[in-house]
Amino acid sequence: MRKFDGKELVLATHNKGKLEEISALLAPFGITVTSAADHGLEEPVEDQDNFIGNARIKAHYAAKATGLPALSDDSGISVDGLDGAPGVYTADWAETDHGRDFPMAMAKVWDELEARNAPYPRTAAFNCTLCLAWPDGQDEIFVGRMPGQCVWPMRGDNGHGYDPMFQPEGFDVTFAEMTSEQKNAISHRSQAFEKLVQGCFA
Ligand code: IMP
Repeated sequence: MRKFDGKELVLATHNKGKLEEISALLAPFGITVTSAADHGLEEPVEDQDNFIGNARIKAHYAAKATGLPALSDDSGISVDGLDGAPGVYTADWAETDHGRDFPMAMAKVWDELEARNAPYPRTAAFNCTLCLAWPDGQDEIFVGRMPGQCVWPMRGDNGHGYDPMFQPEGFDVTFAEMTSEQKNAISHRSQAFEKLVQGCFA
């Protein structure tokens, strides 16, 4: 496995919530972290039907465009009662003419569960795939998964995306009711990040 020995890392995402979480996780490593937006990058088309494929597209695009190592995150929530949907299409379910509307997307998930009369607990899992890619084309992949259940009504004001409707296993609060430190201690993203650290930063 290739080690990261550079001074600067590009976070290949335009998602503000992910940027904040990953920047916080990288803070102890003394690396200069810049974002895709800082480099004026566009968002590449994510046309793969799996998290690894889409994570690779984003990281390689940013690494080639900047000449720097780039770290991408492809993630989503897979709901058992919806046969794994929205899964890789988690962001797409929030898409509207005026940008992403997550309360609308969460309502869509719950309405679908109701329509199918899905049993309780309405189990789901957040998945995170991280891809660290270098400009020469090499990459390393790390995955994390946090099981839990969908709850309704949504609860909490913290976090981002689908956090207000997801209650992680072993807790009676949603991700959006946790502080960022509490979420970062257990989340799918921090689990994948821990593997990245062991593999490439240790
Ligand atoms: P993508 O990886 O850019 O395709 O989008 C992932 C989608 O999953 C986005 O809509 C995110 O808001 C959502 N998502 C990923 N991780 C989390 C999380 O930790 N909390 C809430 N939503 C998340």
